[in-house]
Parts: sequence; C-alpha cells; structure tokens
Amino acid sequence: MSPTFDSLETQPWSDITALHESLLQRQLDYVVDRSEFYQRRLGKQRSQITSLADLGALPFTTKEDLRESLIAHPPLGFHLAVDEAEVVQIQSSSGTTGMPTYVAASTEDLAVWNSMGARVFYANGFRPGDWVMHGYAMGKGFVGGLVNVQHLQHLGCCVIPLGAEAGTERLLRAIDHLKPVALCATPSMVAYLGAAAPDVLGKQASELSVRKISVGGEPGGGVPAIRESMESLWGADVRDMMGGADFGSTYWAECDEKDGMHLCSQGALHVELIDPDSLEPLPLEEGVTGELVYTALARRATPLVRYRMGDIVTVSGTGCACGRSAYKIKTHGRADDMLIVRGVNVFPAAVKDIVVHFTPDATGYLKIDVDFEGHSTSQPLKIRVEMASSSTRTADELAVAIERMLSDRLTVRSVVSIVPEGRIERPGAAKEKLLERTTNT
Ligand SMILES: [Zn+2]
Repeated sequence: MSPTFDSLETQPWSDITALHESLLQRQLDYVVDRSEFYQRRLGKQRSQITSLADLGALPFTTKEDLRESLIAHPPLGFHLAVDEAEVVQIQSSSGTTGMPTYVAASTEDLAVWNSMGARVFYANGFRPGDWVMHGYAMGKGFVGGLVNVQHLQHLGCCVIPLGAEAGTERLLRAIDHLKPVALCATPSMVAYLGAAAPDVLGKQASELSVRKISVGGEPGGGVPAIRESMESLWGADVRDMMGGADFGSTYWAECDEKDGMHLCSQGALHVELIDPDSLEPLPLEEGVTGELVYTALARRATPLVRYRMGDIVTVSGTGCACGRSAYKIKTHGRADDMLIVRGVNVFPAAVKDIVVHFTPDATGYLKIDVDFEGHSTSQPLKIRVEMASSSTRTADELAVAIERMLSDRLTVRSVVSIVPEGRIERPGAAKEKLLERTTNT
C-alpha cells in the first residue's frame, strides 16, 4: 500500500513551494476581487506581492478581526467571498472568549478540507476499509465532529459517529460489540475511556479491538509520557494530529516515526512561522520555535490571508524516514493559554506532562488555579493534582515530588495540593480545561 494518501506528500519541497507560488497569486487576485474585507485591507498592496517572499508585507488577520467582521456584516461577515447560495456547510469555531466564529465552506472548500484530512488520518495509520469509532464531540458545529467524519469517509474508512456525547458506557459497549480497529478522540477522552473499560465491560481496554488511535483537539498526544500511558492502556499505536476550525479541521499529523507532526496542507494552506513578540518571520529550520501563520491558497467561501491562530510550535525535523517531504512540528499549545510564572513561559500541557509522569500514584487529572489577572504572575503556580485511591505514597510525598519535577524540568515554582480521586471534574464530551480561573479577566 502507498506510504502516503497523496503523491504531493512525497514530492520535493521545492516543487511544493513552486506550487504555492502560483496558487498564492491566483488566491490574492480572488480575495481582492471577491472579499470586501480583503478589498479594503489588501487592495492597495496587492500589486506589490509578486512572490511568497513578499507575504510578510501584508497585515495579519486575527480572530478579533473575524469577530468584528461577523458582527458588522451578519451572518457570515465581510470576509465572505462567495454568494450565500454557494455555501453548503457552516461550522463553528469554539472561541474561548466571546461569541463563536462561524466558518463557511463551499463544495470546493469541502473537497480541499477532505484532501487535507484524509492525508492526516492516513499519516496517523488509518487505511481504507478500517472501522473507526469517532469519539470527538459531534455537537455545537465543532469541526472535530462532522468534518472529521467527512475526512474519514473520503479516506475510505467506515465511520461509527457515536461522538463524545454518547457517553463512556455507550462508546465502550459499541467498541466491544462492533470491534473497530481504530479510534479518534481527544487524548483526555482516550485516557478516560480506557480507564473506565474494566468497570463498564469487565475487561481492560487493551483486550478490546482498537489498535490505532488518532488524537487531537487538545495538546498532549505528541508528549511522550501522555502517549505512552494511552498506548499501554489500550495496547494500541497512538498518534497526534492538529489543525483548527478556520481552515477545515486537521492539517498536521504524525507518521510512523511519531516524532512531530508533518504539514499535510500542500496546495491548500501556506504556512509561515513568526516570532510572536516581534512578529518577524522565522526560518522553518529544525529547533526553531514560533507561532504559525496561515494563508489559504485554495479557499472560496471564507478565505483568510496571514491568519494568526495562535499555535506556538517548534520545528522538529525537515526530513523523515517515512518519505514525506514536509517539515514536522511539535506543538506547545495556543498562545492564549500560555502562562508566565515569574518570567518563565509555561504551557498547561507541559504541566500535564509532568503530572502524568506520576501515574499510577496520580490519576493524571489536574487543575491549575489561576487567581491572577491575565497571564502573568509573580507567585508560585497553584496546582491541584488528583491522587489515585490505590496509591501507596502519602499526599505530601507526591506533592513534593511533583513540585520538584516542575522546578527541574520547567524551571517553574509551584504549590501542589493533592486531592482525592474523583474530585476533579472529568472532561467527558468537552475539551479538557487545565486552567480554572477564579478572577475575571
Ligand atoms: Zn514522517
């Protein structure tokens, strides 16, 4: 069987760049012609952009810009670039603050989304004919729901779209009955389902049929300790993927090497890396950390140019044994979620990674209590960690050990308080929220 879903994925990167050069020119003509939002923003500068290297001269587009556009010109904003009659699907982006953003797609857009999504699930190890239990939230227009179902069908899989809302018991009973070989869900859902299997079914998750798991929707799948705990729980291969609602669902994926996520958006999205503080471009070279900036190259309904989604990533490689030519990244999370503790940048997912190291004494569930305004504090970070009822350690021992590892690995000072098993709310159908704010910001 082919090593990739699409032959574009193994073409020399210079060919992909050349493709993107020509698509960019066509797309910029399109947005200036069809999108009132970009007519105003880029109309005067359009003629000066003759190559990808000139893109940096154009302004960024932000989530706030899109919200304002949606409010000023309902229902789909000034950035809509097709007639409303050509829109065939509207998804919702779950903004962490304020109103959700609505994202429109035409028939052509869905085809582009599906090509990216099928590459992603194929890289994650899914193959035509595989039966896949779909455990992402199906409701609220979340792209991990219906859009991932469409991707899996485009790849040729049989999808079982029970969704996270079905609940643990129903999902586990369906897996036991239908025996799907694959599962896709958030890492916290995968961990939760796996832990519940003995109670619900009287057997371990590793005794079930699932051997391939694709995780996304929240950071964690690419973190070694979190991956290993899911793999041993299920006796399955676990791979990470990532994307975002503004451009479909998913367009980064880990391959067999499981050492970072390949870009899977050839011909659809051009991606830049910038310094999130200076906003200057950064080279796409191994070891460089920055924020991703996306420009749609083949988008009809709601095209975006230089869009800042807020993902902070590190380039983890530019060549791969799998044959894919695209570079790979590891994600740290969204810039919005980052905390600054006494001047040190801390991503909640990195704290979770440390806590997961302490399983089975810890259950892996935690909350970071944010009792300060904004993102920055001069106090030690307050973290509640759940202790497993089967642990033989004392609460004090566990707290001190976690505080020490947070200090050693992340150079973060913390105060860990231990709570009994079951005290921290399980994410269920929702994304896991590691931060709990006790102030209004
Ligand atoms: Zn690879």
